[in-house]
Amino acid sequence: MTDTPNASGEPDELYLDAAATEPVTRNVIEAMMPFMTDAYANPASVHQPGKTAARALDAARASFAAGLGARPDDVIFTSGGTESDNLAIKGIAMARMRALGLQPVYGLAGDDEPSGVNPAPAGEHPASRRPRIIISSIEHPAVAQSAQWLHEWFGFEVVHIPVDGQAHLDLDALEQELDGEAGERTTLVSAMLANNEVGTVEPVEELVRIAHAHGVPIHVDAVQAAGQIPIRMRDWDVDALSVSGHKFGTPKGLGALLVRGRTPIEPVLSGGGQERGLRSGTQNVAGAVALAIGLNESNARMAAQYRELTDSRDMLIDAVRRVVPRAELTGDPVSRLPGHASFIFPGVTGEALLVDLDARGIAASSGSACAIGRHEIPGTLLAMGLEPQIAKSALRMTFRRPLTREEIERISMALEDSYTELTH
Ligand code: PLP
Repeated sequence: MTDTPNASGEPDELYLDAAATEPVTRNVIEAMMPFMTDAYANPASVHQPGKTAARALDAARASFAAGLGARPDDVIFTSGGTESDNLAIKGIAMARMRALGLQPVYGLAGDDEPSGVNPAPAGEHPASRRPRIIISSIEHPAVAQSAQWLHEWFGFEVVHIPVDGQAHLDLDALEQELDGEAGERTTLVSAMLANNEVGTVEPVEELVRIAHAHGVPIHVDAVQAAGQIPIRMRDWDVDALSVSGHKFGTPKGLGALLVRGRTPIEPVLSGGGQERGLRSGTQNVAGAVALAIGLNESNARMAAQYRELTDSRDMLIDAVRRVVPRAELTGDPVSRLPGHASFIFPGVTGEALLVDLDARGIAASSGSACAIGRHEIPGTLLAMGLEPQIAKSALRMTFRRPLTREEIERISMALEDSYTELTH
């Protein structure tokens, strides 16, 4: 994130899209290398090279678990945040549906309409035995679409907990949804620790307390939070927690679901039974090493630079408001990720602003990173009660290292110019 001139004399692109992905660090690459070249064996093999690989996998698992306040046995290595969320939502909901003796409803299409595939059971189904899942209304599609899949294939009732104007979950609504007969049919609660679009950090311990008071396990999507704020999975008594490596300096396609042994869960992938039988497939030893090193490096940086990072974020927020007085910060101004600044810019679209800023050497985002090439209206902003037209004007700037004064100056000047040009 420097703005030193490159070979052509132009300042380098200032990368402000760390919430979408981060570069892989040198240390991570170097730590991975031996497990792709010399110590390449399959960790399930019984020979010495296999044992060497298995020992490296165990060490990586222990170190990675410690970085999230978890135990080695909690860790299921996966291919990233999306897979971890799918495994948690589908795996736990289905296992609990069976354990609670709930009855799936086959043949529902999107809106509770019998699809015609198998409409009969839906009509005869006793509502009192219908499985249910509760998610927040600001979840990433990896969670929201997994819940929708449960609805379409097994007739789950999907309940969305509303949020307030700063994207905080309505805890009273959660409490009410878990009360009584409907609470007894609830297989799982899923909420995120930190929101990808507006950076708001949710009160995870409160959420756990409420879910557990009703005997329901809770899954936490911590993809945006891992490596940015401290995570204490065991202390918080969370049942399952998803993380993704490329948000903290590993190659893409690496992640983990941490899930406690007490939590009922079915695998989504069938196969050789690796990772406690929950994630079959030959384990990626180099990937596990990358996850351990990347997380620990990010955690160490977080501890050393937290203050500087939040100070520079707040300076950026002030600077943006100064140059574009109509800009409004979205999300909680205080309880938010340290390197996350998100705004709405009334009168322009986030997309136009992005393109214009890009031409000025600033790489930002409109909010949600993971909707491939689509410029959708950010769902979190809609759930926060913003009009679609306003939600479309969202711009997000995310960074992992403190911004310098010069960088803040450069960003605010570019924003002022872009905004003026686009609104005139
Ligand atoms: N959950 C959240 C909150 C995210 O922000 C993302 C990606 O940005 C994901 C899940 C998906 O993670 P992955 O890209 O590793 O599949």
